[in-house]
Amino acid sequence: MSLGDDTLLCNYPKCRGKLSGFAWVTACSHVFCDQHGSGEFSRSPVICPACSSALSGKMDIMRTELSPSEEYKAMVLAGLRPDIVLDISSRALAFWTYQVHQERMYQEYSLSRADTQLKQMEKVLTQQNQSRELELTAMRGEISSLKKVMEEYKRKYSEVSERLMERNRQYQKLQGLYDSLRSFSIGVTITNFHPHPVFHLAMARQVTPKRTPRFLSAGASGEERFFSCLEADGAKSFFQLSPPGRENRPFINKH
Ligand SMILES: [Zn+2]
Ligand SMILES: [Zn+2]
Repeated sequence: MSLGDDTLLCNYPKCRGKLSGFAWVTACSHVFCDQHGSGEFSRSPVICPACSSALSGKMDIMRTELSPSEEYKAMVLAGLRPDIVLDISSRALAFWTYQVHQERMYQEYSLSRADTQLKQMEKVLTQQNQSRELELTAMRGEISSLKKVMEEYKRKYSEVSERLMERNRQYQKLQGLYDSLRSFSIGVTITNFHPHPVFHLAMARQVTPKRTPRFLSAGASGEERFFSCLEADGAKSFFQLSPPGRENRPFINKH
């Protein structure tokens, strides 16, 4: 009920429509709109839809015009003694007071229910916020530890990378050395089987075009000097490698 515009509301559950025109009033102090009153009170037995009271009496239900005409108002209580007029007015006011009280109770109940729901929602929201906060803190900690791990990996990667580069440099050095030694070895071998020094030097250049030992890069005269020097020192016998199947082959007497 809106106290501002002095209008009663239909007491039918879930209707609560503003009453106008005609309304159905009951002896149990309930009021219904024309639609719900005519619908509910046309069947038998007659039960109040609001409080389930039996309304079997002749005057238990009345269809009332809410805005009566001036003629009706002039005549309806005319001729009655003042105490009866006051009694009727008092009962009508009691009916109104009861409706206002009911509406107030309903509004207070709705308010209380809304307040309870609000508090529950606030509680849930607070709990959710707390759990989010905890999750956030945990995630921040995780991010921080992951950052530390990443920094550690970065440092290790840098170290390993540095070591790899160092190994690579060493490998390059060894490779150069190996190339030099191989070309030197091939040169010496060829010299043993082909005594002409010009030929074996040409072979050595073909095999190892990239790196040449210092002692071979001294020019033709220098190379000849180096190898003649080896021969003079008796190095020929030291580097002499016989192919398999010749002198080193063990003699097998087949009969
Ligand atoms: Zn209604
Ligand atoms: Zn009732």
